Amino acid sequence: MSQSILFLAHVSEAGNTLPKSSYEVLGAALELTKQLGARLTIGLIGEDVSAAAQTVASAGAERILAVAGPDFSTARYASDAAAAEAICRSAAADLILAPATSRFMRVLAGVAHRLNGCVDTHVTSLEAVEGDVRATRWHYRQRIEAVIRRDARPWLVLLESGCHAAWVTRETTGTPGAARVEQIPVILPKVAARTAVSGIRAPKSDVQTIRPDASLLFVAGAGWTKKQADGKTHVEQAEPLILDFLRTSGASLGGSKSLVDQTGESQAVLGFMTHLNQVGQTGSTPRHPKGLSTCCHGEEPHVVGWRFINERRAVNLDPNCGWARGKADVLYVADAFEVLAKLNALLAQRSRTSPEPAPQEA
Ligand SMILES: Cc1cc2nc3c(=O)[nH]c(=O)nc-3n(C[C@H](O)[C@H](O)[C@H](O)COP(=O)(O)OP(=O)(O)OC[C@H]3O[C@@H](n4cnc5c(N)ncnc54)[C@H](O)[C@@H]3O)c2cc1C
Repeated sequence: MSQSILFLAHVSEAGNTLPKSSYEVLGAALELTKQLGARLTIGLIGEDVSAAAQTVASAGAERILAVAGPDFSTARYASDAAAAEAICRSAAADLILAPATSRFMRVLAGVAHRLNGCVDTHVTSLEAVEGDVRATRWHYRQRIEAVIRRDARPWLVLLESGCHAAWVTRETTGTPGAARVEQIPVILPKVAARTAVSGIRAPKSDVQTIRPDASLLFVAGAGWTKKQADGKTHVEQAEPLILDFLRTSGASLGGSKSLVDQTGESQAVLGFMTHLNQVGQTGSTPRHPKGLSTCCHGEEPHVVGWRFINERRAVNLDPNCGWARGKADVLYVADAFEVLAKLNALLAQRSRTSPEPAPQEA
């Protein structure tokens, strides 16, 4: 019997489109649909899904289902769970693929329970092997990779971002609103709507230094706060150099443990660096196509956090640092203060000559 797959997504709260990672999951869903000879359904949740439906209308799904209305505009467990459950029941799919957004991470385990199915989160890849689906995910801080197969159905799978190429529509002629969307009615009991989102408190965009979608990871190490050749520290120069670079390049900021730990030890620190920026064994393992390390020694406990960084470069005064020992593709033996000042000047020059700044190309 042919299998059926549901691609489930919610519109982003900032607008009516889908979060970028949704198109990556759609890419994975289409690949699996092809490998299995399966049928694909798309399910959308949000206040108004028409613009989002338009962007996926040409993906080749048999049905596009939606639960829409003001009750579904913002993340809320009770309404999101009811919406996802209704779509899943209507689609009656064996496999339900969804992006690992915070909104879905909170709610889909509960939905799996209501459907008497099972769920796997943090999945990084999916493939069909002899008509069977295999999912992979990492355990024990990215040291063990598990391959999972399950008999229970429906099987809900939340895919991590940055693990699959995003599906891009090839049709440019679609008229807005032309996607045929089946509305699934969901009447919420009063208790399901008693939590209201009164506002969102987020850091200002210029201090938002962790950018998972950036092409470049920029790592700052403890060297930025250490005594330099003149016997003095230059934190007051390091701060604007790094912030300028982040602003003009659009890079995401990572830090070594030594640097982020200084925050708690009341030493001279970079004010915008927190433990959330820490990359490594006890930090994060971000996914970016490129990485540039500065003033960081490149010790193993730090570099294990670079596992998913494809192209690696480092700037260090020490030609014998860890990066020189096979951990980076290119090591510039140079003073990071000088290198960054030069880089910032080049980036400023580019933004003067090019009307369209292209931070993602950094
Ligand atoms: C169990 C365990 C878990 C750990 N987990 C992590 C983790 O998650 N993440 C992590 O980062 N570390 C982790 N560590 C710590 C790790 O081993 C290192 O101690 C740490 O990464 C060192 O940080 P650093 O390279 O920034 O600092 P340092 O070792 O002090 O290196 C500073 C570097 O800056 C260079 N430098 C100084 N001035 C300049 C300049 N002007 N231009 C260019 N280069 C300059 C120096 O040559 C030096 O190489 C862990 C350790 C253990 C034991």
